[in-house]
Amino acid sequence: MKKLFSIICTLLIILIPACSQGDTWETSKIRVVASFHPMAQLTEIIGGDKVEVHTIIPAKGDPHSFEPTISDLKKLKTADIFIYNGLGLETWLDKALAAAQNPDLVSVEASRGCLPLITESGAADPHLWISLTGSILQVENIKRALAASFPDNKDYFEQNYSEFKEKMEELLTRYAEKIEKAENRRFVTSHAAFGYLCRDLDLEQNSVEDVFAHGEPSAKKLAELVSYCKTHNIKTIFVEEAVSPKVAETLAREVGAEVKPIYTMATKSDKGYIECMEHNLKSISESLTK
Ligand SMILES: [Zn+2]
Repeated sequence: MKKLFSIICTLLIILIPACSQGDTWETSKIRVVASFHPMAQLTEIIGGDKVEVHTIIPAKGDPHSFEPTISDLKKLKTADIFIYNGLGLETWLDKALAAAQNPDLVSVEASRGCLPLITESGAADPHLWISLTGSILQVENIKRALAASFPDNKDYFEQNYSEFKEKMEELLTRYAEKIEKAENRRFVTSHAAFGYLCRDLDLEQNSVEDVFAHGEPSAKKLAELVSYCKTHNIKTIFVEEAVSPKVAETLAREVGAEVKPIYTMATKSDKGYIECMEHNLKSISESLTK
């Protein structure tokens, strides 16, 4: 009898949370948890109306410093697939997966198979999703995982993947041609998030904040940037969403440049993924020919 009671208790502990969480998904579609906004967007590009996506890091959250909430863990517990960027961005990953206790969960590192850029500190640059070739690789990993888990929709995922890949390749060809003709290949931005895009298009970025978006720049760093802008005739200072434009504005005033928006896509904006990518490419290439 005692043994039976303990079995029932154990079952209740396991079952109650699982039952009460079931209704937190709104549809009967494929349940995907994405670590942050760009992973959600890329998943939706492939999964279309077959997937329901929950994003762990909130719309305005900073992906470089974040911890998931209890409700995120509940979503992970009942999800089919978990998509994360990798390259060290999700520092909370192992703890969250262990806490979620979902043995059926398929975890997908979207950056798997990429050639990482290594920063001065020896850590990998995580911003692969901002690159044309990088996003193709990420979307391919996402597509493969969705198709393996839900083979009935394989053709649909493959079709969406082909369309996305074609679009990114078309942008790569178009902007590589434009940039090749530009006399300048350098641009200045707030947060050094465009390393992979620079690799795609043979560009060079300089920035106010480093790759990991740490803090305000020193007076020395600012002086270096002023001299860099003057030497290389930089006429535009880009500012990402969710970054304070104050330092960029000071720098721009100092060197007679204008401040323009650019998207890391890490947080939600009024633009979709492809639209942000097109905006960035157009703005950067225009700034090079000024
Ligand atoms: Zn970043």
